[in-house]
Amino acid sequence: MLRLLRPIWERTIVLKVEHLDVFYGDLQILWDVSFEVKEGEIVVLLGANGAGKSTTLKAVSSLLKLANGSIEFQGSRLDQVRSHKVIEFGVAHVPEGRRLFPEMTVEENLIIGSLTPEAKAKRKETMKRIYELFPRLDERKRQNAGTLSGGEQQMLAIGRGMMSLPKLLMLDEPSLGLAPILVMDIFRIVQMINKEGVTILLVEQNVKHTLTMCDRAYVLENGRITLSGTGNEFLNNDHIKEAYLGI
Ligand code: ATP
Repeated sequence: MLRLLRPIWERTIVLKVEHLDVFYGDLQILWDVSFEVKEGEIVVLLGANGAGKSTTLKAVSSLLKLANGSIEFQGSRLDQVRSHKVIEFGVAHVPEGRRLFPEMTVEENLIIGSLTPEAKAKRKETMKRIYELFPRLDERKRQNAGTLSGGEQQMLAIGRGMMSLPKLLMLDEPSLGLAPILVMDIFRIVQMINKEGVTILLVEQNVKHTLTMCDRAYVLENGRITLSGTGNEFLNNDHIKEAYLGI
């Protein structure tokens, strides 16, 4: 799984999102949204409930049609492929609410994450690595996913995303509804996955912790990108402090 990364200043842009306009029916949700993610980065999208963060990830996954704009991943136009093909480009999306198959076992849920030819060929070794990252999943591999705790289900959702051997892993609020100790576990594992060379695009409400671990962040407000900067710049920004950190 380990990929060698170039130094951060030499890294190329892998995901380029330009001028997105997205509607649900007549209602415009995203307005001229542009951002980029470089190879090996952890990039965070922040924003209040309803700002359009999940909509942005769904657009990158080609689950939504764009009214305007383009989405390029490593030079290929994702907005021009069907959603089930996006995974073949190396982009995995772990959606909010996990979307597991509750009546299937942990192992069966993981297998479903590895259906592309490359992922299928490496299924055994990837699964071994997932079980090393998440020993609880190993202990519960024959259990139905629906019987797992919230934290374990989140681990399984991330594990299933990793089974596709993604180059870019998009995580939509992985800490939602979890006890603080599990939140720390999830973030620690996200950082480990990133250190192994997987680029991360993260949507989170847990702003303080996310800003300390990310390379860069963007703020979405009412469907528009209103601010961008490094994690450190955000931690020292008065608007961020007041609106998102409560200080
Ligand atoms: P949250 O943290 O609450 O999920 P978010 O920033 O991810 O917030 P989105 O889920 O992207 O926000 O929603 C953006 C806006 O689009 C909201 O006003 C929401 O009500 C609306 N919306 C989301 N899904 C649909 C849908 N399927 N049909 C119509 N409107 C929708």
